Amino acid sequence: MTLKLYNSLSKKKEDLKPLKNKIKMYSCGPTVYDNPHIGNFRSFVFFDLLKKYLNFLNFDVQHVMNVTDIDDKIINKCCGKIKNLELMTKKYFESFKNDANKLKIDLPNQVPFATDHIDEMINLIEKLILKGHAYKTEDGSVFFKIDSFKNYGMLSKIDFSQLSKTDRIKNDEYDKNSINDFALWKSRKVNDGDIFWNSPWGNGRPGWHIECSAMSLKYLGAQFDIHCGGIDLLFPHHENEIAQSVCATNKTFAKLWVHCEHLLINGSKMSKSLNNFYTLNDIIKKGYNVNTIRFFLISSSYSHKIDLNDVNLNSSNSALKRIQDFYNRIFELSKGDVEIDDNKIMNTQLIVDFKIAMNDNLNMSKALSVIFNYIKKINIKLDKKQMTYKESILTLAALNKIDEVLGVIRSSEIKLSKNDKKLIEERNLARKNKNWDRADEIRLFFKKKGIDIDDSEAGIIIK
Ligand code: AMP
Ligand code: ZN
Repeated sequence: MTLKLYNSLSKKKEDLKPLKNKIKMYSCGPTVYDNPHIGNFRSFVFFDLLKKYLNFLNFDVQHVMNVTDIDDKIINKCCGKIKNLELMTKKYFESFKNDANKLKIDLPNQVPFATDHIDEMINLIEKLILKGHAYKTEDGSVFFKIDSFKNYGMLSKIDFSQLSKTDRIKNDEYDKNSINDFALWKSRKVNDGDIFWNSPWGNGRPGWHIECSAMSLKYLGAQFDIHCGGIDLLFPHHENEIAQSVCATNKTFAKLWVHCEHLLINGSKMSKSLNNFYTLNDIIKKGYNVNTIRFFLISSSYSHKIDLNDVNLNSSNSALKRIQDFYNRIFELSKGDVEIDDNKIMNTQLIVDFKIAMNDNLNMSKALSVIFNYIKKINIKLDKKQMTYKESILTLAALNKIDEVLGVIRSSEIKLSKNDKKLIEERNLARKNKNWDRADEIRLFFKKKGIDIDDSEAGIIIK
C-alpha cells in the first residue's frame, strides 16, 4: 500500500517511489513584501500536511522552502533602498513565521532566502550561457532562450507553436499568452536605487524564477522527489524552473509535481492584487480559533478549490468539535494514558482505514469520513459503557497518531494525565540525582506519546 500523488507533469496519480532513503521535497515559499494572507496559508498548510503524512508513513523527509526577498514588487515597495528591503523582508518573514506557528506548521528543514544565494544564481546563469541556453543583451541583462529547450511547455502543456513570440519578458510574473524568453538576470535600472549586485554582466539583480532552481540544486541536488506549490505557480514559474534546471544539469529535476488549488473568496482567487484578502488574524478576530482555521484549510481535498465564508468556517467548527468531544471522552476513560507499541497502533482499524484514504492522493474527505464513521460506532459503545480501559488507551494513541498529521484535535495546551505528572516529577528527581538513563527513558516514553520534553536553563519545556 503506497502513497499515490497526482503528478501535474504526467497528469496521473503516481506511486511515490523515493529516489533515496530520504524524501527530498521543495516548495515555493512566501514573497515577503506584505503579511501573508490566508490564501497563501492554504498552500503552506497543505505542504505541511504532506510532510507530516510522509513522516507518519515513517519516511525521513528533507523539506526546503525558499523565501523570495527580491522581485519587482519588493523593489517597488521599498523604493529602491536596500536598507528598506532588509527591514521589510525581515519583518514580513517574522509575520509569516508567527502565523505559521499558530497554524501548527513545522518550519521546513531549510528556509533559504534568495538574496543569500546570489552567487549560486550567477553560477547557474553562467552555466546556461555556456551551454547555449541563455544570452546576454546589450543592457547587461540575461535571458533564457526557450527555443533551446525542446521540452519547454512539458508541465503546462502549452502548445507554444500556436502562440507567437513577440518580445522578451522582463517581468517576474506573466500569463500564459506570453510565452517568450524570460529574464534570468536584470540589469540595474534607475528605480532599483541601491538594490543591485555585481555580476559578470554588470550590476543588476536576479529574475524571480532562477532562485528556486539555484536553491533546490544547492540543498536537494539536481534530482529530487517532490516539488510543490500553489496552482498559480505552474506557469510560468514552474515551467521556467524545469527549463533552467534541466538545461543546466541534464538531469530530470523534480519527479513529482504537486499543486495545491486556490482558496477563493466570493468565487475569486484570494490575492493581494485583487485586494480581497484576509490574514490569519482577521479570521481569528471574527471569533474562529486556529484549530478550526487549520481544519477548514485541510478538510477538502487539496486539488479542489475552497471558498472562505462563514458557512464553511462554521461547519468546520462543528465538525472539529465532534472530533474533539470524542477525543475528550476517550481521554477521560483512558485517564490520558496511551498504548506505546507503534505496531499495535498502526494496525488498528482506524489507522488502517485512515491510511487507505490518505494514500489515495491525500484524500481528506475520505479520511474524515473514516474518522466520523469510527466516532459514530465507538460513541455507541461508550454510551453502553462497553469500552474497556485497554481499548481506550489504544484508541487514544491512534487518535494522537492521526493528529500528528492533521494537527487540529489537540489544543496547543498539552493535557497531562496524573501518571504523566508523576513521571515528570520522577524525571526531575532523576536528573537531580544524575540518573541520566532513567531521565532519558522517561523522555522517550513521552516522545512516543507525541510530547517533547526539552530541558532549558529556565526549567523544562513541554511541547
Ligand atoms: P506568494 O507569497 O505570493 O509568493 O505566494 C506564496 C504561496 O501561496 C505560493 O505557493 C502561491 O501559489 C500560494 N497562493 C497564493 N494565493 C493563493 C490562494 N488564494 N490559494 C492558495 N494558495 C495561494
Ligand atoms: Zn519557486
